[in-house]
Amino acid sequence: MGMAAANGTSVSIQDLSLNFGAVSVLQTLNLDVAEGEFIVLLGPSGCGKSTLLNCIAGLLDISEGRIFIKGKNVTWEEPKDRGIGMVFQSYALYPQMTVEKNLSFGLRVAGVPKDEIAKRIARAAEILQIEPLLQRKPAALSGGQRQRVAIGRALVRDVDVFLFDEPLSNLDAKLRSELRVEIKLLHRKLQNTMIYVTHDQIEAMTLADRIAVMRGGVIQQLDAPQTIYNRPVNRFVAGFLGSPA
Ligand code: ADP
Ligand code: MG
Repeated sequence: MGMAAANGTSVSIQDLSLNFGAVSVLQTLNLDVAEGEFIVLLGPSGCGKSTLLNCIAGLLDISEGRIFIKGKNVTWEEPKDRGIGMVFQSYALYPQMTVEKNLSFGLRVAGVPKDEIAKRIARAAEILQIEPLLQRKPAALSGGQRQRVAIGRALVRDVDVFLFDEPLSNLDAKLRSELRVEIKLLHRKLQNTMIYVTHDQIEAMTLADRIAVMRGGVIQQLDAPQTIYNRPVNRFVAGFLGSPA
């Protein structure tokens, strides 16, 4: 990949396997994500997308293999030491805290100086257009606003890699397409690495530099959206995303 050669590898997953008891959920999976790349993990429910994302985040212990982030072996690093920010489908905001507190909480725990916290919150609030919401509590926000705050929490952490797990699937169709555009603009602006899980073909086609089509814990095809659409490698990929040839 030209991008990988120019920018280096951001996330490298090597021979990763994960079993839940006797059940193999991910099978010797390999994936190299270039710095600044937008990768979408696409596949039907239960194919292992969230499991893979949670492995990268360090929320699950893997059975075999290694994970590198920016060249560093993070396989056994704590989630907080991996330089990643995660946005979930459910907003996971603290209901008793204002938006501003939701954004600053993790930074205060991490010992980031006050003026630096203020700077980062101001920047995130501007980028995500949530300045007027900073003193509200989550209950007083719409679904789309809550999801912006959830993205803001990843943003203020100043991380290299964003992980999104179906961040839009709880929203109605109109909001979904609005936020899809915003996430795309956010990526243009930040130019960081994003790994984005969805089962929505349109999201995948519009957001991804490359799409990894998954089935049964295996990546079936990893290619640019147009390539997958025009030249699916097998009937599963064709049925899921390919052109109706
Ligand atoms: P996806 O996100 O693609 O819908 P998941 O990664 O959530 O899929 O799940 C992949 C498979 O692993 C599914 O068959 C699911 O039932 C199974 N699984 C997920 N979490 C657990 C768990 N904690 N224990 C046992 N099986 C699990
Ligand atoms: Mg999932």
